Amino acid sequence: MELMEIQVNTGKTASGKNMLPEKAKKIERKMEHQTRALTPTYTLNLDEHLRHILDFEKLKFCFECGICTASCPVAELLPKHYNPRTLLHSLQFCDVKALQSAELWLCAWCYRCYNRCPQSLCLPEIFQALRKIAFEKGYLEGFYKALKIIRENITLPASSCYVSFHPERAIENKQLVTNTIQKDIIDYEAKKPKEETYVKVNPEKVAIIGSGPAGLSAAQELLKKGYSVTVFEASSSSGGMLKNCIPEYRLPKKIVDFEIKHLKDLGVKIKNKLVIGKSLKVEELFQEYDALFVATGASKEKILGIEGEELKGVFYALDFLEKANIKKIEASDKVTIIGGGDVAVDCARTALRLGAKEATIIYRRSKEEMPANPWEIKEAEDEGVKIDFLVTPKRIIGENGKVTAIECLKNELSEATETGRRRPVPIQDSEFEIKTDSIIIAIGQFPNTTFLPETVETTDEKTIAVHPFTLETTSPGIFAGGDVTVGPGTLMAAIAAGKEAAISIDCYLRGASLTPLKIFKKDQGK
Ligand SMILES: Cc1cc2nc3c(=O)[nH]c(=O)nc-3n(C[C@H](O)[C@H](O)[C@H](O)COP(=O)(O)OP(=O)(O)OC[C@H]3O[C@@H](n4cnc5c(N)ncnc54)[C@H](O)[C@@H]3O)c2cc1C
Ligand code: SF4
Ligand code: SF4
Repeated sequence: MELMEIQVNTGKTASGKNMLPEKAKKIERKMEHQTRALTPTYTLNLDEHLRHILDFEKLKFCFECGICTASCPVAELLPKHYNPRTLLHSLQFCDVKALQSAELWLCAWCYRCYNRCPQSLCLPEIFQALRKIAFEKGYLEGFYKALKIIRENITLPASSCYVSFHPERAIENKQLVTNTIQKDIIDYEAKKPKEETYVKVNPEKVAIIGSGPAGLSAAQELLKKGYSVTVFEASSSSGGMLKNCIPEYRLPKKIVDFEIKHLKDLGVKIKNKLVIGKSLKVEELFQEYDALFVATGASKEKILGIEGEELKGVFYALDFLEKANIKKIEASDKVTIIGGGDVAVDCARTALRLGAKEATIIYRRSKEEMPANPWEIKEAEDEGVKIDFLVTPKRIIGENGKVTAIECLKNELSEATETGRRRPVPIQDSEFEIKTDSIIIAIGQFPNTTFLPETVETTDEKTIAVHPFTLETTSPGIFAGGDVTVGPGTLMAAIAAGKEAAISIDCYLRGASLTPLKIFKKDQGK
């Protein structure tokens, strides 16, 4: 199967004579543009599945507005290597080259571009479909090149491959992926000569609160810039969500530990079991440090606020996943998970791995509206997770202080609201009960910012308000990034924020102007 046969516009007159070269080129360009907008100049020879995914009829209406690239955290991290808009464009006109390119493997599947694309083009799925074809045709050079780019440019490269880039979803031979990542990244890092440790050339010291991906990425970038950096971490382990909450089956913890050790070898100092706000106050940090980066994530769990939430057998998602990662919990036979995001799906799949006989997710909207990544949903369903759509929990029922069932209402969806989403509306008198031994509430998280001085302003969503380009907070010398500024987000966005913050902190400490703009982002969204 050949991907595409391209009909090239030859730039000849209708009678077949050559035009003046400049004029021909100009008309050619104009025609090419118009033709692309109306009918494709290429003929396709794709199988039906790919044709459906690529949805060329829709693709040709891409505005080429560049919003996808502007919102893409990978494009921000790897501007020399990745540009989703141009990749999309090249896919329409080129066959083998696009399949062989590293770019095809650099999409991190965060769906940020999809959420913002005015034409609702689903780039991650288009790229994923093409990755599969690249694999089937044996074009793996792009994959190897992508790994090299990731390893050389991204903090926590191996963890990022496992959590964000998902090469194993295209390359069905999972062992090949695992072996390649381990060989190509971990072995390389282990053999890195010691003299690559960064040299301190600046007298200033920077304190970072939080050792998640945002904090660690900022730490590495600041080290590269020659600063002395100390990371303060509340937990006894480092790595934030990567270490504590992302399930072991998706990200082996020995990978995270290995990468953290590597960063420590490079000079990142991490002080664990130090809760800023309790052990030390932010103001006290300024006695020793010249600038501060707040990367404390979003790990305060939202409560349902319904009767019975205090019963034994009711858990909150992050607490459940954290305990599962350190094997401090067993699942009961029947587990019900409330929520529709990736965290809810992770809880359900983890419950099955912990021995639950049934794991059922209840979600208040329909499958189309479910915020979890569609691939995660499919994998969960393949493993036996059941999902009940259009259901709202009403109260948790218990006996002798222990949960036994959950009473729910059936929903219907309203017309689309101004946000484009349809609201779930409970149907009157539609109550029904689901028997269950335990319940996991996974309806979202938000940041805890109560430890910050009042001079640091927060938004209505309880995130820290920061300048959109510089990540300055409203308090001079304090910067913030990652989930603490956007709410629950993605690994790549957190790593990109850490890098951005390091650039701004460097400018601040060197006395260079950051930007005169004083717009603080109130709602950046995921
Ligand atoms: C279950 C789960 C699955 C996920 N799956 C994916 C995925 O597949 N793909 C993806 O891209 N993203 C995923 N994410 C999201 C991703 O993990 C986060 O977006 C990312 O970790 C955010 O990084 P961060 O550095 O901003 O915060 P975090 O990783 O939350 O790190 C914050 C750190 O700050 C520490 N801290 C907090 N308060 C204090 C304090 N007062 N003093 C000292 N230290 C403090 C915390 O202990 C923590 O270690 C997932 C998240 C979860 C919970
Ligand atoms: S955001 Fe959408 S319309 Fe704009 S360039 Fe990207 S894919 Fe095309
Ligand atoms: S899904 Fe995320 S990483 Fe992939 S192109 Fe879109 S914004 Fe970039």
